[in-house]
Amino acid sequence: MASAYKIIDHAYDVVVVGAGGAGLRATLGMGMAGLKTACVTKVFPTRSHTVAAQGGIGAALGNMGPDDWRWHMFDTVKGSDWLGDQDAIEYMCRSAIPAVVELEHFGVPFSRTEEGKIYQRPFGGHTTEYGDGPMAKRACAAADRTGHAILHTLYQQCLKHKAEFFVEYFALDLIMDEEGACRGVMAWNLDDGTIHRFRAHMVVLATGGYGRAYFSCTSAHTCTGDGNAMVLRAGLPLQDMEFVQFHPTGIYSAGCLITEGARGEGGYLTNSAGERFMERYAPHAKDLASRDVVSRAMTIEVREGRGVGKENDHILLHLEHLDPSVLAERLPGISETAKIFAGVEVTKEPIPVLPTVHYNMGGVPTNYHGEVLRPTKDNPDGVCPGLMAIGEAACVSVHGANRLGTNSLIDLVVFGRAAAHRAAELVRPGTPHKPLSDNAGDEALARLDRVRNAKGDSPTARIRLKMQRTMQNNCAVFRSGDVLEEGCRLIDEVHSQMGDLSVTDRSMVWNSDLVEALELDNLVSQSLATLYSGAARTESRGAHAREDYPERDDENWMKHSLAWVDGKGGVRLGYRDVHMFTLSNEVSVFPPKKRVY
Ligand SMILES: Cc1cc2nc3c(=O)[nH]c(=O)nc-3n(C[C@H](O)[C@H](O)[C@H](O)COP(=O)(O)OP(=O)(O)OC[C@H]3O[C@@H](n4cnc5c(N)ncnc54)[C@H](O)[C@@H]3O)c2cc1C
Repeated sequence: MASAYKIIDHAYDVVVVGAGGAGLRATLGMGMAGLKTACVTKVFPTRSHTVAAQGGIGAALGNMGPDDWRWHMFDTVKGSDWLGDQDAIEYMCRSAIPAVVELEHFGVPFSRTEEGKIYQRPFGGHTTEYGDGPMAKRACAAADRTGHAILHTLYQQCLKHKAEFFVEYFALDLIMDEEGACRGVMAWNLDDGTIHRFRAHMVVLATGGYGRAYFSCTSAHTCTGDGNAMVLRAGLPLQDMEFVQFHPTGIYSAGCLITEGARGEGGYLTNSAGERFMERYAPHAKDLASRDVVSRAMTIEVREGRGVGKENDHILLHLEHLDPSVLAERLPGISETAKIFAGVEVTKEPIPVLPTVHYNMGGVPTNYHGEVLRPTKDNPDGVCPGLMAIGEAACVSVHGANRLGTNSLIDLVVFGRAAAHRAAELVRPGTPHKPLSDNAGDEALARLDRVRNAKGDSPTARIRLKMQRTMQNNCAVFRSGDVLEEGCRLIDEVHSQMGDLSVTDRSMVWNSDLVEALELDNLVSQSLATLYSGAARTESRGAHAREDYPERDDENWMKHSLAWVDGKGGVRLGYRDVHMFTLSNEVSVFPPKKRVY
């Protein structure tokens, strides 16, 4: 097989796959530690989805009122509905403070307070005094273009530190050896059609989420979870895949995001009666309750006939009462988005909104150093040598069953940095590479070749639509046993239909038909993991809301789901305990309690 494709070989200490916030922060840290690092990315770094992040990055700086990283930790544990690992959450919330200060020093142009400190706004689920005090002002923001500011700054820092980029290279698969260690990655250069074999002592997956498994989502078309699928093909499991976040305020029909920062600045939701219904569902936090809580409340309002519009099928978000100068200064991006995608002048009229798929809590299981787990019965926390995962691709797990807003951007930089620290401990710069077996990378090329020459009758777009509709209908805000089981059947059919895939362009240069087919193949295996994990979990927790099991069941289900998917589409499930311990004695474990806002 290898002979059919000419292979260009590379050797690095570390290869990072992905150049979003997580990948760039790791690449930068690896370079600073003296490790020869390549960053491989299918899109130009500053086009990664992180560029679209709007509202803010969470850190208890306390610039605009009292705050404490322990309150941030409590909020995150509660937000996770007690599925998050408390050691990792402690690590993130404590490290968040120096991580944001470091970003400031790198040059991120944060918005400022009168005194010149980093501006911070309230965000859903972020409180003070362990939930008893008022909402915290914790979201550090650069207007409503925080991700844009961070991504561009990190890219500049990487260039300053002479990081090597392989831009518009599509990573195909990991290279695994006989002992199950990761030894590198295979990639296809989209621009000239060449195949590249990257050897590395450490491969870091920073490939982002898989929102595009759904029909309507806020994430970019490139968010297809390629790294997650590579992990499945390497025989490793994905964790907590049933937990998919719906953001309350996607623009009705277009799906574009209106940041929660809009409600942080004083925006609120109403139903067809003009009622501020969130007061009924979350008397304390109201419109700033956690995302899963607000999305469910909106869905109930619509279902019970109190939706707005001709079809009574959406909700209104009001900003028109806010000072126009606040809108211009703090929310310029969403003011523009609302105008373009909803035809709404936010200073005059409300924005039509609907819960829209936004974030994947599930992903590649890791510890808080970023090392990928290869759980076995005897050692549930054992690691896979040579492999790390960070960012939305990873499940550390700091978000558990539901992520709080602003906690992804902080996850990217905290764990991007942690991965670099850990790699520097494990890899001595310039260590020679052990020889690879002659057929290393053959399986990746066989898959590429199979998809490239697929001669069936079903074009990618047709199969993709069926997958996206299945996920949208059968794995939504509210779920039930029947609907999930039907979803499993439908997604099995989608998997079988991949056998009838048709790809018409056989070239190797900028073949977007082939790229989309490979991405679809990746999405299908993750959809299988999501639906099967969801059907098995007979409780409601965070974003997984079962109408047939409305209560959280800590006795049986306070555990992480693991899903292995084989080449035939077979799903095997297993479980891992949640880490109910902390790293230091500066904080104690937060025991489970009822989650009310
Ligand atoms: C519209 C929007 C607004 C958001 N706002 C906020 C916010 O205000 N605060 C917050 O905390 N979170 C926010 N989030 C969530 C957060 O932005 C994302 O979770 C986060 O940016 C993901 O970063 P990442 O580095 O993991 O991946 P991404 O930024 O998605 O980058 C993935 C990278 O992987 C590369 N890649 C993928 N597949 C391959 C492949 N096969 N080969 C080579 N390269 C590959 C891509 O080229 C890209 O560089 C928002 C998300 C969206 C969609």
